[in-house]
Amino acid sequence: MTKYLKYTNKVVTFCIFVLLVNLNVLIGYSTINPLSEFNSVTQNGQILQFNETNAYNHISSQLDIGYRVPGTSDHDFCADWIRDQIHTHVDSIITHNFTIQKEGQAAYECQNILGKMNTDEEKIVILGAHWDSRNVSEKDYIDRHLPIPGANDGASGVAVLIELARILSYYTDNLTCQIWFLFIDAEDQGLTNGMYGIQDWNYVEGSPVFVEEIDDFYDSSSEELECFILLDMVGGTNLTFIKESRSDEALHESIFNEGRNLGYNDSFPISPKIMSITDDHIPFKSLNIPVIDLIIDFIYGDWTHHHTHSDDLSNIDIESLRITGRTIESFIKNYFSLNSSQTWNDDDFIFPLWGYSLIGVVIIVAVTVVFLYRKK
Ligand SMILES: [Zn+2]
Repeated sequence: MTKYLKYTNKVVTFCIFVLLVNLNVLIGYSTINPLSEFNSVTQNGQILQFNETNAYNHISSQLDIGYRVPGTSDHDFCADWIRDQIHTHVDSIITHNFTIQKEGQAAYECQNILGKMNTDEEKIVILGAHWDSRNVSEKDYIDRHLPIPGANDGASGVAVLIELARILSYYTDNLTCQIWFLFIDAEDQGLTNGMYGIQDWNYVEGSPVFVEEIDDFYDSSSEELECFILLDMVGGTNLTFIKESRSDEALHESIFNEGRNLGYNDSFPISPKIMSITDDHIPFKSLNIPVIDLIIDFIYGDWTHHHTHSDDLSNIDIESLRITGRTIESFIKNYFSLNSSQTWNDDDFIFPLWGYSLIGVVIIVAVTVVFLYRKK
């Protein structure tokens, strides 16, 4: 009888052990399982308001304006349209006019557009996107000398910035930084193969001029540039961001973590492709501030419409706009709010959630072993 009881005891203990392990794994899993993509709440309970339909419509409006190629009236009209879209959301708008004239070539009048929000704060977070669109479609099979619609390459970043300006304008009482919405001109006209593009132009012609003259736009004795976040081609299908090799490591990790915490695991992979892209973030790096280029693999990746006529609305995915917009909104709200305790460049070790589950299993095994063999 005693033997039988002892045997039953062991079976019951074993069953409790299995039950506890399952419970522990379940609890662990529920904590590491990222929030649903359709959940609109960030980790610290802030509501995310970025509206992807608004962003999509902003892309459509830019395409309706026409090709945003420097030297054309549609280009200048689009600049007016951008100012018109943001003027109610920001404290002030600065138009940074500049001329690009290569030796022996025609002069092009260009403009960077800067919308400043929450200008009483000291720190400045710059969100940037280029707003010009390419004057040729050299990667297409037909009509290579005609411009691209630039729905993703150009218009998507602009669209996300405008919608971010709208929703963050409701949030300024809580913001601990200024936000600059910087619409950069003359990024996408570089001459390739000696024949496509504007004669003698490089890619990224507008941001170096802005950076050169940046002291005209802020007071470095009382204001401080915090970081520069570039959005380029953020609205296409199959959105998968790469790790641009000259982007700041901590800033990259913080933004990618932010995206993954919102459930956007495919767009912000744990092991992204690492590529080196010449883009508008490079001139800002020379200011010794952390920069990041949020961009896709447009060379070998899943989005194959770069510099072709099919960079149009049919290859935009509204979900991609939501993923980008909400991740940046969440990043700003989590790191630059009155009640936020995090700093994005904080490299404190964060204990992984699965670790708690593992500790739980170890404790349960230890307790069970002690319980089973204590009377031996
Ligand atoms: Zn381009």
